[in-house]
Amino acid sequence: MRYSQLFGKTTKNAPSDADSPNARLLEQGGFVEHVMAGVYSWLPLGLSVLRKAEQIVREEMDALGGQEIFMPSLQPKEYWEKTGRWDSVDILFKIKSQTEKMYALGCSHEEVVTPLAQKFTRSYKELPLMLYQINTKFRDELRAKSGVLRGREFRMKDMYSFHTSQAELDAYYARVKEGYVRVFARCGLDVKVVEASGGIFTKKVSHEFQALTPSGEDTLIACGSCEFGQNVEVATLKEGDACPNCGKPLFKTKGIEVGNIFDLGKKFPEDFGFDYMDESGTHKPLVMGCYGIGTTRLVGAIVEAHHDDKGIIWPKSVAPFQVHVVPLKSRDDEKQKLVEATVSALEKDLASRGIDVLVDDRDKGAGEKFADADLIGIPLRLVVSEKSLAAGGVEWKERAAAEAKSVALEGLGDEIARWLKA
Ligand SMILES: [Zn+2]
Repeated sequence: MRYSQLFGKTTKNAPSDADSPNARLLEQGGFVEHVMAGVYSWLPLGLSVLRKAEQIVREEMDALGGQEIFMPSLQPKEYWEKTGRWDSVDILFKIKSQTEKMYALGCSHEEVVTPLAQKFTRSYKELPLMLYQINTKFRDELRAKSGVLRGREFRMKDMYSFHTSQAELDAYYARVKEGYVRVFARCGLDVKVVEASGGIFTKKVSHEFQALTPSGEDTLIACGSCEFGQNVEVATLKEGDACPNCGKPLFKTKGIEVGNIFDLGKKFPEDFGFDYMDESGTHKPLVMGCYGIGTTRLVGAIVEAHHDDKGIIWPKSVAPFQVHVVPLKSRDDEKQKLVEATVSALEKDLASRGIDVLVDDRDKGAGEKFADADLIGIPLRLVVSEKSLAAGGVEWKERAAAEAKSVALEGLGDEIARWLKA
């Protein structure tokens, strides 16, 4: 991709309402555009990151036996009345049609997935059942904030599981916990799994996956030596207390909730009269779990965890492009032709290897191009110039590293492919 052709460019001025690094950097870098409070358009660069993150989520949900479906955001009021959540969920968007009929805009999909699963599931032979989707969700937030972290419209992966027994749900819940840790590790996030309240979903305790960053909106009480952690909203312990697992003193830290899992018990199957027949033909109650990952929020959390004062530093796994090629203009026509030919050859070689390349072909000076490359945050920057060619090749600069080095043109494609896999 040629940067001159790419829709959405960097801007020098930070958005005036940016209250967090993700809000500022995603908008300045040309990844998203603010439409109104808590609502964003995703531009090609941002959508590329979002798709890569969602593909990681998808692969891990498939590995957990999930089957992907797609459910409507526009949902019947009757279903929400059936579960008692039409009146009890304050963040539920309610809309009225021209015939005065009321609908919900989904903030969650228990009300749709439960009757859907019920329609096709009668016997223990069809269980357990795990269904997931990646879809747009709506929340009637009083105060949207922190860029893409707390929006009124956002993307989310939600998975629902139905089981014949609590023991089976417990075992699956534990597997999802491990799958989630893999998702976040692949996205370059260091997460702490903490106990939290069930919120609008369940009276039981749930688990949150908290990406640890100083700008996090949640306060946690955590152990640095073992896995123990609690959200302060449910914490029975405080900073300095001994960890109940290992005895080390607990500390207070900040996190961004990037995922959550809930044991929903029998509530939703009971609300819809959804049961199953066991081996002897007896009707038995089902138990249900639900598992969320906000994918637009995940992108925001990655920026919060991976940036410096110059811009974003994308992990290789989710970067919008893997290599940023920056040609610098030469005043000498012959040398300029050589720069252009080198860039074209490099672009072709990398494309043939399936490596995504952004070429900054704009007629701009080195300073501006480098500043934009740092802001956009592609993992590897290759400068091709009269000077780099005289030194035998290209200047190789990793976004996460301080120093640049000269690398020969011969074998460059192989070296890049190796580095991207490392
Ligand atoms: Zn501990």
